[in-house]
Parts: sequence; C-alpha cells; structure tokens
Amino acid sequence: MMDKDSQRRFDVLVIGAGPAGIAAAVRAAESGVRVGIVDDNATCGGQVWRGADDEHGPDAATWGTRLRKADVTQLFGMTVFHQPETGVLLGEGTDDLCELRYTSLVLATGARERFLPFPGWTLPNVMGAGGLQAMVKSGLPVRGKRVVVAGTGPLLLAVAAYLRKQGAEIPVICEQVSWSRLARFSVALLGHPGKIGQGLRLKKDLAGILFVPNSWPMAAHGGQVLESVTISRSGKTEVVACDYLACGFHLLPNVELQSLLGCQIGGGYVQVDDFQQTSVKGVFCAGEPTGIGGVELALVEGQIAGLAAVGATKAAQKLFGERRRARRFARLLDRAFRLRPELRSLPSAETIVCRCEDVPYSRLQEHRSWRAAKLQTRCGMGPCQGRICGPATQFLFQWNPDSVRPPVFPAHVESLATVVRNIGVSQ
Ligand SMILES: Cc1cc2nc3c(=O)[nH]c(=O)nc-3n(C[C@H](O)[C@H](O)[C@H](O)COP(=O)(O)OP(=O)(O)OC[C@H]3O[C@@H](n4cnc5c(N)ncnc54)[C@H](O)[C@@H]3O)c2cc1C
Repeated sequence: MMDKDSQRRFDVLVIGAGPAGIAAAVRAAESGVRVGIVDDNATCGGQVWRGADDEHGPDAATWGTRLRKADVTQLFGMTVFHQPETGVLLGEGTDDLCELRYTSLVLATGARERFLPFPGWTLPNVMGAGGLQAMVKSGLPVRGKRVVVAGTGPLLLAVAAYLRKQGAEIPVICEQVSWSRLARFSVALLGHPGKIGQGLRLKKDLAGILFVPNSWPMAAHGGQVLESVTISRSGKTEVVACDYLACGFHLLPNVELQSLLGCQIGGGYVQVDDFQQTSVKGVFCAGEPTGIGGVELALVEGQIAGLAAVGATKAAQKLFGERRRARRFARLLDRAFRLRPELRSLPSAETIVCRCEDVPYSRLQEHRSWRAAKLQTRCGMGPCQGRICGPATQFLFQWNPDSVRPPVFPAHVESLATVVRNIGVSQ
C-alpha cells in the first residue's frame, strides 16, 4: 500500500500551473476549500511565465502574489500520469509517487509546439522555437549566435524578440503564411486593441530583422551540428548560415490526460460548457486545451473554471463577456496560421519522422493508418508516446490518433509496479 504521506485529498485539484491553472487555483481557494495545484515544472508559471514572475509584466506579478497568499498546496516537480479510479490521480515526483484524491478537478495542461519533419530536422541545434527560448531562460548562452527563426504563429515573434534581447543575431524570421493572409489577420486585430499594443511593442523589438512571409525551412545542414538552413522564400531557395534553427509550427493543445479521463474532444480541443465543465461531471478544463488563445484567454477561463468548481456560478458568469472576446482572438489565430499543403512534401524518403524509434518517412508511406504504422514500425511508441510524431503524421497522412492509454507520461518502473500492486494499471 502507498503510505499516508503519499496520499493527498483536495476539494479542488488543479493540474497545470500556467496562467490558467494559477487563476483557477486562486479563485477556488478564495471560497475557503482545500485546493491543490500540481505541475511537472519545478516552479509555477507554465510556458509563458516560466522563471521569475517579476520579469513577465504586471499580470504575472499579480497572479504570482495572489497564488503565494492563497491557501493552496503547491506540488511542483510532479507529473500526473494515470487515473487508477474515478476521483484519484497518480503523480510522480523525482523520487516519490503521490495519490491525489479530488472532488472537483481542473485540467489546465497547456499546449506544446507542433513540429514538422524535414531533412536535417534531427541535427543538434535544430530546436523548437519555444524550446530554445526555455533553454536560454535556463542559462543557455546565445550571445553572438546566429539563430534562424522559422515555422508559423505569433510565438516566432515573441521568441525572436527574446533571443535578440539575450544577444543573439536573427538573420531572418520565416513565416509560412502568405502576405495576404497576414494582412487580413492584421486588419482583424483592430477588433482587439490590447493585441495591437503588443504587436507594436514586438515591431519595435524586432526592428531591422528580416521578416519573410511565404517562407519555410526546407532542409537543415551540418556535420556533427547545424551549420546552415535552406529556406524556401516565395518559391526560391536560399541557404542561410546559422548556429541554431528555432522552428515551430504553432501550438497543439495537450489533451492526453483529458482523453484518459473520458472527456469529449472535438477538432483536437477539449469540449466544455459555459462553466468550463467537460463532458465528465466535476472535471473542468481551462486554457490552451480548449483553444489556443494566449494568456488573456487562459486567465479568464481559469478563473471561470475555479469559481465553477466551488459552485460560485454567479461570479463565474460575470466573466463570460471577457471570455467571449478572448475566444474571438483564438478563432482568428486558428484561421490565420493554418498550415499550407506544400509543407506535406518537406520530408524526403530518409527523413526521420518518429525520432524516438528512428522511423523514416518511407516506412510510414507503406501504411494506411496510425494504428497500422504503430504496430508495424513502432512509430509513436517511444518515450514521447507520439506527442511529436502523432500530430506530424496527422498532418502528413491525415491519420487519426488512437485512444490514449496510461501512463500518459513516461513513469518510473517502480511507480508502475506500485500501481499494479495497489490497484491494477489497466482498469
Ligand atoms: C513552448 C512554448 C513557449 C511559449 N512561449 C510564449 C511566449 O514567450 N509568450 C507568449 O505570449 N506565449 C507563449 N506561449 C503560449 C503560452 O503558453 C500561452 O499563451 C499560455 O501560457 C497558456 O497558459 P496555460 O495555463 O493554458 O498553459 P501553460 O502555460 O502551458 O501551462 C500548463 C502547465 O501544465 C503543465 N502540465 C501539463 N500536463 C501536466 C501533467 N500531466 N502533470 C503535471 N503538469 C502538467 C505544463 O508543464 C505547464 O507548466 C508558449 C507556448 C509554448 C508551448
């Protein structure tokens, strides 16, 4: 049996301590119930407020202070990987396993970058745009390094601005979206005054950097490590020398835990009602898993979920208007940064698509479904559990992902053995 210290019980348990999770935990705790918040990172903040919260502007500072003052049990450095029975989740820390019991649950598990395979994308120093930013925030020096930033979505601009501040030289930002689509996006932004301010700040931060729409990476080259990138630029190719390629194709919601719990997923996103409740009673979802809409949407959805989880529906309703506006921006992003079909022809026969199991594109072409490819090639069966190659094959071959099975994150054998001993891993 798990000892008593490894068992925790909460009225409201929040998974994910990004903006959505912090807002949910704070608003739920204000009603005086027992609230716990869990995150696999060592500190709170999620992707956008990673590290010290005084570096990330007034919202981060305010919510950081509110969380510190609230009576919320903080369990950081813990990954939730399994639901052995309804109302119980299992979390694994660096060297312990914890049973988390809850009455209501808020899932605020955020998003990750989408990667598309192209020749050379597995070379050292080819990284996700947000991934490189996170490494620099953790101490990787980029002063004097040449970093090509490529892919799609507003994250590219935020990353380029951050890397430049850290002393990197950005020779070019390649955005796969066309000029005309970007122009429509800019006009639509007029309906979101807050975003115009952010856009103008970014424009200032990025002054002098070449920004090229209709452009994407075609191949990365180098011996032991990246040396240059071939980019497609309005139909012509060009080789750009660089030390790093920071490359990501917008964001994908993390919905694996929600799927495991049986929450309905539609169009890739978790389906929720007006109070952010999923199709499973008592399980709420907020932030990027319900739609990629940035910090504002994450914060307002988190607050609604936290309030609704403690039955404060009147207070939650007051935030519906703010959420409606923020959701309009999410729909705008979704439309503007759709992937162009040409990106399907980026991989060559030898390009590795599943980097955990070394499966090349040519071996996947033989198959008609994700399941067949998994069974025959082990694609998606490595440590990332298909988090990277699953969405890539969905785009390349229009394959639909399988149902999710525990553990949703890799767990130590000891943890899995404890699960089997105590409750049985495959209920
Ligand atoms: C790599 C990356 C970099 C980004 N950088 C920026 C940026 O510079 N500027 C910007 O404006 N926006 C950025 N974004 C977008 C930003 O994430 C969102 O705007 C906003 O943070 C969403 O908040 P959230 O609370 O929904 O999710 P997140 O901030 O992503 O928080 C979710 C948290 O849940 C944790 N988690 C997920 N599953 C589990 C689990 N099973 N167990 C335990 N913990 C779990 C995650 O580790 C994460 O800390 C970035 C996104 C990504 C993916």
